Amino acid sequence: MSDQSVLAATLVEPGRYEVREYPLPEPAPGCVLVKMIASGICGTDKLTYQGFVGQYGGTPLSFPIIQGHENVGTIAAIGDREAITDFEGIPLRVGDRVVVGANVSCGECYYCRHDFPYYCCERTADYGNNLSAKNPPHLFGGWSQYLYVVPGSFLVKVPDELSSEMAVLTEIMAVTAGLDRAKQVSAFPSESFRFDDTVVVLGVGPLGMCHVMKARMLGAGTIIAIDLSDFRLDFAARLGADQVISASKTSAIERLSMIRDLTHGRGADVVVECAGVPEAVRESLELLRVSGLLVEAGNFSDMGEISISPHRHLCAKNVRILGVGGEEPAAYGPSMRQMARYANRYPLAEFVTHRFGLRQVDEAMRKSMAPDSMKVVIDPWN
Ligand SMILES: [Zn+2]
Ligand SMILES: [Zn+2]
Repeated sequence: MSDQSVLAATLVEPGRYEVREYPLPEPAPGCVLVKMIASGICGTDKLTYQGFVGQYGGTPLSFPIIQGHENVGTIAAIGDREAITDFEGIPLRVGDRVVVGANVSCGECYYCRHDFPYYCCERTADYGNNLSAKNPPHLFGGWSQYLYVVPGSFLVKVPDELSSEMAVLTEIMAVTAGLDRAKQVSAFPSESFRFDDTVVVLGVGPLGMCHVMKARMLGAGTIIAIDLSDFRLDFAARLGADQVISASKTSAIERLSMIRDLTHGRGADVVVECAGVPEAVRESLELLRVSGLLVEAGNFSDMGEISISPHRHLCAKNVRILGVGGEEPAAYGPSMRQMARYANRYPLAEFVTHRFGLRQVDEAMRKSMAPDSMKVVIDPWN
């Protein structure tokens, strides 16, 4: 095996890719080699490419990096074992199609020992991100023909009825676990997210779009999508949004009055911020009704600060804010099964709008930032 070489798009420094050749590794005991099928471009990848490298609360990034953490592939080799089990206990063998969990938490820090999600871990290792390609066996990101899976990772078997391109959406769909958390809060009187609540999703790139779908699945009432791109708003309408508002044709004040008009003057019960710019957080707080709930999932990378009025935006409004730093492993399997279930109701097959090979990553990156794209994927064998 080891005299074979593997091609991987490697981010040498922010803004500069090189397709590099690496030796095909033999997986060590406890490790797995996955032959990649498809890997998505996530908002995080775009920000790393642009040099916004303050992520996961500041874990340093060490270049070069092979990006790609929304990974689908088939098991090519298992270190020292015939079979392993996936996150849900299903046996996995060579040839099985899997999604690779994007992160590996240490299991030993205070947060891990107390069952906090991976993004609270003090030493999380992240595929396509802080696992550097500098160190052998190098292949720690999905924009590569093979991905090397380290101990402590989790794999989830892809249901036969789910296409690999839809399975690429699993990780972002799993981030919508923020809405499941919001549902739990609704056990308290007068707290959202309740059945038939009005949900505003601010920013309907792929992450916002998954929140639109999830809000509907969880029993939202009116769903309102806001975005700069008409292309994305059209798609949001097809994925279940009842109302769409173009942020490029309205001012923040106009949007506020539109939301109030749709909610008997009160404002939204729930706002999900997925635009990923600091300014959108203030607007989200403005759009909420008194005692509303904000799910903040967009500002994953540090894009700076905003000013708010603690009195007007927080106290007087009595808001609840759920910061969401990532997804939960237990949400991968349900996300895949629900996407398969809803594939005949939503145009999920059109969610991936563009596919590029390893030598076209620059173009893929530019396309992923263009207003006429949704999920852009890298096919490393193209
Ligand atoms: Zn991501
Ligand atoms: Zn930990």
